[in-house]
Amino acid sequence: MRYPVSSLSLGELERQYVLEALDSGWISSLGSFITRFESDFAGFCDVRHAVAVSNGTTALFLSLKALGIGRGDEVIVPALTFAAVPAAVVEAGAEPVVVDVDPENWCLDPGLVEKATTPRTKAILVVHSYGHPADMDPILSFARERGLAVVEDCAEAHGARYKGRVVGSMGELGAFSLYGNKIITTGEGGFVVGNDDGLISRARFLKDHAMDPERRYYHTEVGYNFRLTNLQAAVGLAQLSRIRELIAAREALLETYRKELGHLGRVRLNPRMPWAEPVNWMVCALLESADESGREKVMKGLREKGIDTRPFFVTIPEMPPYRSCRVVGRSGPRAEVAERLSRIGLNLPCYVGMLDSDVEFIARSFEEELVRAGIL
Ligand SMILES: *Cc1c(COP(=O)(O)O)cnc(C)c1O
Repeated sequence: MRYPVSSLSLGELERQYVLEALDSGWISSLGSFITRFESDFAGFCDVRHAVAVSNGTTALFLSLKALGIGRGDEVIVPALTFAAVPAAVVEAGAEPVVVDVDPENWCLDPGLVEKATTPRTKAILVVHSYGHPADMDPILSFARERGLAVVEDCAEAHGARYKGRVVGSMGELGAFSLYGNKIITTGEGGFVVGNDDGLISRARFLKDHAMDPERRYYHTEVGYNFRLTNLQAAVGLAQLSRIRELIAAREALLETYRKELGHLGRVRLNPRMPWAEPVNWMVCALLESADESGREKVMKGLREKGIDTRPFFVTIPEMPPYRSCRVVGRSGPRAEVAERLSRIGLNLPCYVGMLDSDVEFIARSFEEELVRAGIL
């Protein structure tokens, strides 16, 4: 494929740091890169603590465990997101309750949260989807009123802001992924972030085998190994030092897409609410006058021109493990908004290193395929 949907940006600094870690002999999960990566990432998220972990899914799972969520509890999740979100809830022993998304910003619809809440609800797991922050204020105030925890899934939105506040700093805990297609990467990796000393030390304790800090090799409960290595942290520290530049480059590419595709009335690109400073994790295009088969035709046509695309996520309740989850939508037990987005949304190539001329070529090809599929 000439144009993949996403690709890495690894520079000279990543190479230098990795070699430094290697030469130091500290390649396992202790070392100075881990310490620096954690403290710099906490600074980036404007929180007191960041705990480096093995991936974004373990970050979500650990966040729920640190909050004491388990059997008999319910956790509210959005209908349109990656399956790791409900999977982490199930793995913690709790039940996901699926709430439809807002048609404007594609994140959890705050207007449905009250309807989804029962006496068993313990937390709201908000996802800042495709780089756009969720509408946090109504969610936070409802959660405070009812004594619910808020966990922010920031896997797709490193550095995005809501009314000036950076994602990950608003809920009780924030979970990040550092997978290869995220804003910054360590190959595999993640973070749990937060301000609460107690929750953060629970997360640290559980991620490292739950060993009693006062007595070595004495374990007071079942623990896990969700550690990140110092080698991965070396890559991560270099990526983090370039993150502003990476975010700006992605934003510039999105602007070029907007310029090239803005005249197509029935194609809507990434949302941007007045209160949001999103980051461009993926360039999103909604084919508003199409259906799923139209979208498939466009994706196939682009593939034949060497341009890779990816469809939006399949909604959570449409997948076998989650079919029996309770669903709360605007007009009944269906996530209708999420279903529609899921069928007509696709992601276009976007990665640091792409040129404006690449975007122009992709945009022209996209327009041609939309015409060919009878969508424009
Ligand atoms: C990528 C992603 C995850 C999972 O992260 P991994 O590092 O792949 O485990 C979780 N939630 C969302 C919203 C994601 O996009």
